[in-house]
Amino acid sequence: MKVDEMNITDEYYTWLFRYNPKELYGKKFSFPLFFLATTINYSVRPWKYFSVDAILVNAYDILSNPREKAMISKHGLRKYLGFDGIILVDSGGYMFTKHKDIPVTPTRIVNLYEKWKPDIAVTLDHPITPELPENEVKKRLITTINNTKIMYETGNWKKITFMPVIHGYKESDLKFIISKLEKIGAFDYYGIGSLVPLLRPLNEKNLKLAIRVIMKVRELLPDRNLHAFGIGGVGMMPLAFLAGADSTDSTVWIMSTAMKEILSINTSTFRLKNKEEIEREVKTCGCPICREYRNSRKLMEDRNARAIHNAWAITNLAKRLRSHKDNLPSFIYEHIKDNKMMVKLYNYIINYKKQNLISQYIKSDE
Ligand SMILES: [Zn+2]
Repeated sequence: MKVDEMNITDEYYTWLFRYNPKELYGKKFSFPLFFLATTINYSVRPWKYFSVDAILVNAYDILSNPREKAMISKHGLRKYLGFDGIILVDSGGYMFTKHKDIPVTPTRIVNLYEKWKPDIAVTLDHPITPELPENEVKKRLITTINNTKIMYETGNWKKITFMPVIHGYKESDLKFIISKLEKIGAFDYYGIGSLVPLLRPLNEKNLKLAIRVIMKVRELLPDRNLHAFGIGGVGMMPLAFLAGADSTDSTVWIMSTAMKEILSINTSTFRLKNKEEIEREVKTCGCPICREYRNSRKLMEDRNARAIHNAWAITNLAKRLRSHKDNLPSFIYEHIKDNKMMVKLYNYIINYKKQNLISQYIKSDE
C-alpha cells in the first residue's frame, strides 16, 4: 500500500489514553498541558489575572536569587508563588554546567526539592548541543544517568513526581539512555531535553531534528507521559503535541514582552510588531487587558499589560488545543497553514506517522 492511500484520520490521535483527565496530588488536569515557564522574581504573575494550569520554574534561577531562595525554602514554592496548580521545578542542569559559581550536587538538589515541595521535580541533567563531539555526548549522557540514579535513590518521592530527562539526537543515544533510565525506576513521566539548542538558529533542519527526537522517544515509550522541555512557543507547541509530547513549556511570553512583541494565536506571524496587526489583535483578544482597553497603545507602552496579554495568548493556545483534541491535526493545520516552515514540519510529522502506521499494519499482517 502506498503512503498516500493510507487515510490518517483525526481519530488516529484520539486513541491515546494519556489525553484522559488526570490527577496529581489532588490537582486535576488534562493533557496536552502547557507549563508557563517563569523566572522566580518576574514582576508579573499571570495566574493572578486568569486561570493557569501549570508553572515551570528553574532551580538554578532560584539558587541565583538568595532572598527568594530563603523564602521558598521556608514556605515552599506554592505559597511563594501564590499558585495552586501544578508546579514543576527544572534543575537548570545546563546553567549549572555553564556557570560553575553555584556548586551543586544531585543530593543537594534533592534536599532543596524536598523543602520547596513542587509537584514535579526534574533530575540534575547535563544537556547536549548539536556541535558536541560524540565522546562528550556520551559523557554527558552517562552523567545524567548517574545523577538520576543518585537522586531517585536518595529522595523521598511519595509526594513529588520525579522526572528523569532523556537526551540525544541519534536513535542509538536515545535507546541507550532510555534503557539505562528504565533500569533505575518505574517512571511514568519523562522529560525530553536538549531541544532548546535546536531552536537557535531557527531553521528547518534543526526543527525537524527536534520533532524527530520527540517522535522517536514517543515510539520507544508509547505508554508514558512525555514533557518536551522549552519548545512551547506559539508555532512549535502544537507541533510538539502532534509529534507525541503530552506537555511542553516556554518563556516566550517573557522574551517577547522584553522585545516589545505581541504574541498572537490568530496570525501565522505569531509574534507581532506591526501596529496595524496589533490593532487587529486587540480587537478580538479575550485577555483581561484587551477586554478592558481594546487599545494597542496600552500593550506597547505598558510592559506589565503586554506581559499579561502575552501570557494569556500562549496559555489560551494550549487550552484551545486541548479542547480540540478530537480533531487535533486539522485544528493545528488551520493554526499554522499560512506559515511555510510550519507547514513543512506539519507534513513531516504526518508523513512519518503514516509510515509508522503502515509498518505496524504490515507487522500485524505477518
Ligand atoms: Zn490581549
